[in-house]
Amino acid sequence: MPARIAVVGASLAGLRTAEQLRAAGHTGPITVLGDEPHLPYNRPPLSKETLAASGDPSTEQLHASVAFRRRALVDDVDFRLGRAVTAADLAQRRLTLSDGTELGFDGLVAATGLRPRRLPLPGPTAGRHVLRTLEDCAALRGALRPEARVVVVGAGFVGCEVAATALRLGCRVSIVEPAGAPMNRVIGAELAQAVQRHHEAAGIRFHTGRCVAGILGRERVSGVDLDDGTTLGADVVIEAVGSLPNTEWLADNPGLDLNDGVLCDNLLRAAGADRVVAVGDIARFPNPLFDDLPRRVEHWSIPADTAKRAAATLTARLAGRQPDPTPFTPVPSFWSDQLDLRFQSFGSPALADEVRLHEGDPDHLAGGVLATYHRRSAHVGTVAINLPPARQRELREAFTALVPAA
Ligand SMILES: Cc1cc2nc3c(=O)[nH]c(=O)nc-3n(C[C@H](O)[C@H](O)[C@H](O)COP(=O)(O)OP(=O)(O)OC[C@H]3O[C@@H](n4cnc5c(N)ncnc54)[C@H](O)[C@@H]3O)c2cc1C
Repeated sequence: MPARIAVVGASLAGLRTAEQLRAAGHTGPITVLGDEPHLPYNRPPLSKETLAASGDPSTEQLHASVAFRRRALVDDVDFRLGRAVTAADLAQRRLTLSDGTELGFDGLVAATGLRPRRLPLPGPTAGRHVLRTLEDCAALRGALRPEARVVVVGAGFVGCEVAATALRLGCRVSIVEPAGAPMNRVIGAELAQAVQRHHEAAGIRFHTGRCVAGILGRERVSGVDLDDGTTLGADVVIEAVGSLPNTEWLADNPGLDLNDGVLCDNLLRAAGADRVVAVGDIARFPNPLFDDLPRRVEHWSIPADTAKRAAATLTARLAGRQPDPTPFTPVPSFWSDQLDLRFQSFGSPALADEVRLHEGDPDHLAGGVLATYHRRSAHVGTVAINLPPARQRELREAFTALVPAA
C-alpha cells in the first residue's frame, strides 16, 4: 500500500511541502490539515497592501487577493480545513482532530507555524489587536480610521510595517519599544537609529526603552500606561511583541524537543522521532552556513527551502532509501516595506558582532544604503535599503559565494 503522508498546517510551508512531495515522486495519499478555514494564503501583504486596501472588502475578497495559486501538482491533495489537529500519537502514527475524528499516517510533516505572543496585561480586549491571520487583518483594517490614535507595541519588522501602514491611512501613530531603536537586534544600532529618525520625520512617535505597564479603558481601550509614568491615549493598541510556535499538538511524545519550535537535524528530521519532518517557521535546525546551532528562521523564504529538503528526506525514508547527505544550507532572506523604504536582507545579520556601512548615508536612507554584517570577521549577513532589484540579486549571489561553509 502506498505510504500516507499527513501535513499539519495549511499555510505556505504546508502547501510547498505537499507540492515538493509530489515533485520528489511520492505517489501515496497526502492530506493537508489546517485550523484556518481558508486555503493557504500569503501573510506578508497583511501588514502592507492588504491592510491598506480601500473599500470594505469581505474576508473572502481579501482572501482572493492573497491566496496562493494552486498548482496542478497538488490537484489530488486532500485539504481538510477549519479543524485543528489537537494531538499526535507518533508511536501509533495517528492524529486526533478538533472535530473528534482521527487520521492515520505513515509520514508526518509539522508545518504549524507561529501565533502572536500577547501582552500579559489585564484590561479591555476591544481595541487590542494582533496580526497573523486574514481575520486579524480584517479586524485591524476596520479600526485604522483617519485620526485614530494607534499605539504599536513592539518595533520589530511587523510592528514597523503596521505603524507605517496606519500612518498612511491617516492614523496618529506611536510605537513603544523596550529594546531601543526599531529592528535594532537585526540591523544594528546605527541603522536602527537612522530608521527611527526617518520614521519620526514622517510622523511616527517613538517611545524607546519603555514598556507598556497597563492597558486603560473600561469597555474598550482608551490608552496605555508606560513604565515611566507616561500615559498615551489610544483607540487602537497593536501587540507586535513576537510569536510563539504552535507545537502543543505534538506534546506527550517523549523524545521530541519542543523548546522553541521542533528541534530537527540538518535534514529536517524531528529529533527523537522517525518519519517526522518539520518545515517553515516552526522548524529549528542547524544551518552550516553559519554554525551548528539549531535556530528557527521566521522569513518567507524558509518555508519553500525547508519544504524542498524535508520532502526529499521524508520521501526517501518512506521508500526505504538513504536521505541525500548533502548539507542543507539555505540563505535566509527577507524583505520589509515601511513608508518609502524597502529593506532586503540576506543571511543572518542578527548574528553579527560588527556592522560595516558600505554605501549611502544613514541620514538619507531613501537614497539607498548597503551594510554588511560580520561575526569574528566572517560575513554573515547583508542589508540593503532602497537598492534596485538587479543590485539586490547581485548582492544575494555575492553573499552566497562569500559565506564559508562551517
Ligand atoms: C503580518 C505578517 C507580515 C509578514 N511579512 C513578511 C515579510 O515582509 N517578509 C518576510 O520574509 N516574511 C514576512 N512574514 C513571515 C512569513 O509570512 C512567514 O515566515 C510564513 O508565513 C511562515 O509560513 P509557515 O507556513 O511556516 O507558518 P504559518 O504561516 O504561521 O502557517 C501555519 C499554519 O498552521 C496552522 N496551524 C497551527 N496549529 C495548527 C493545528 N494544531 N492544526 C492545524 N493547523 C494548525 C496555522 O493556523 C497556520 O495556518 C510576515 C508574517 C506576518 C504574520
